[in-house]
Amino acid sequence: MFVGHYGVSFAAKRSAPRVPLWVLFIAVQLLDVIWAPLVLLGIEKLSIVPGITASNALFLYYMPYTHSLVAAVLWSAGAFIVYRFLAGREREREALVVAIAVFSHWILDFLVHRPDLPLYDNTSKVGLGLWNYRVGALALEAAVLFGGMAWYLKTRTSRRAAFLIFGIALMAVQVRVSFGPPPVSERAEAWSALGAYAVFAGVIAALEGGGRRLRAGAESG
Ligand SMILES: [Zn+2]
Repeated sequence: MFVGHYGVSFAAKRSAPRVPLWVLFIAVQLLDVIWAPLVLLGIEKLSIVPGITASNALFLYYMPYTHSLVAAVLWSAGAFIVYRFLAGREREREALVVAIAVFSHWILDFLVHRPDLPLYDNTSKVGLGLWNYRVGALALEAAVLFGGMAWYLKTRTSRRAAFLIFGIALMAVQVRVSFGPPPVSERAEAWSALGAYAVFAGVIAALEGGGRRLRAGAESG
């Protein structure tokens, strides 16, 4: 899964409003944000195999440190500890929301991936393989993204149209990934994933922060 993960960010934002959306954007993609540099370092591995699924060409044959179930639990626990350390002990509940957001990545990946997600180390691999159904996989991405966003926008009064446009832009990127040409190389795939996650987190920070400035301006003026 790719942009659908952000639906969880929006839903999490509604249950923990003090956590910045950009933090939740990084959290839901944390396993991939760590995966990409590990691929670039040659520690985790994939091959580009056109046709391996209907939705993409990713043969993800070695990713025990980021996408095994055990690793996902450990990274989620790590996120809890780091968030609580940075935000303060009294914000334990927020840290829990961030940790759940991190773990949600594995659950949603489980729905779409081929059986390439190890339960531990590099063995006992699972994945329901929705990527084999291009339109179904795309529909799931859209349902999770816009479902989460709609849930969040119910509590938001400003900039709702801007959020919606951003959601549509995310879906456009997803359509290009699902229907466009395969990545030119394994390294290119890792770099473009990392670039996309950085850009999306930056955009959502601007959208959210800009709204706050606007409201502050309206209140003081
Ligand atoms: Zn992933």
